[in-house]
Amino acid sequence: MKIGKILVSAGLVCLSLTACGTTYELPQIGDAENQRASLMFAAAKQEPARAALSERAAAARFQRVAGRVAPIAESACRQAMAKRAGFDCQVGLAIDREMKERNAYFTYDKAQKPIIRLSMPLLRDTRSDDEVAFVMSHEYGHLIGRHVEKQKQQALAGAIILGALTAAATTRSTAYGSYYDGNAVRSSMELGAAAGSVAFSQSYELESDTLGTRIAHAAGYDPLEGAKFFARPEKARTSAGNLSFWGTHPPDAKRVATVIATVEQIEARVALKSAPGNRAAVAAEE
Ligand SMILES: [Zn+2]
Repeated sequence: MKIGKILVSAGLVCLSLTACGTTYELPQIGDAENQRASLMFAAAKQEPARAALSERAAAARFQRVAGRVAPIAESACRQAMAKRAGFDCQVGLAIDREMKERNAYFTYDKAQKPIIRLSMPLLRDTRSDDEVAFVMSHEYGHLIGRHVEKQKQQALAGAIILGALTAAATTRSTAYGSYYDGNAVRSSMELGAAAGSVAFSQSYELESDTLGTRIAHAAGYDPLEGAKFFARPEKARTSAGNLSFWGTHPPDAKRVATVIATVEQIEARVALKSAPGNRAAVAAEE
């Protein structure tokens, strides 16, 4: 398979760029965590429809949670980036009042400042502060995991390899597009960019869930309560065809199981570890 070969080559380039794996080790998931995750999904399916909060109550919830999550997340970021001079941990955190979909995202603005936005429809759909804390902390996970930066490096690697790709492969690759948090990477959307980022999108989401679980917990919220937000069976797209939170963050059992396993690590006082691949990468950079 042509496309398969190309993806394998893209993976090799990724290795040479030391850019593409997760920075931190993801927790081990066993039968117990999978079973608890399935129960959570089943319970979420039975839930009655939610009544939307007023805009005022939603904005108040956002402010309340941001006041607790942001300082914890930024200090975790500064600690993680201690060796990266100039890394910007000061995120512009705000409500996206334009977006019609229930969604949240992390990206860099035109001035290259990191920003996190939670849309007003998403906030109005939340049932507890824990849910907003979980979504917000997950987005900080993308900052601390350096996912936009890595995604760009991968995209570059993919673009180099796929420079001379045939039209037949084009049709197949485009099916992989638009899963990431609606960020700048997607807007450039060269074919190479799409294919180069395929293999790692899921692991970045899981890494953000791991980091987000730890941040939400440290800020005094319950990550398991929070994860109920995305365990509901919701449509990936709105009637207008735009991706919702469930489109950019497919709620599979592995995500919920990862949150459960991370909470178990926190309770057992197991610290966050560097991923083995990343340890080699950091050594090479130093
Ligand atoms: Zn995400």
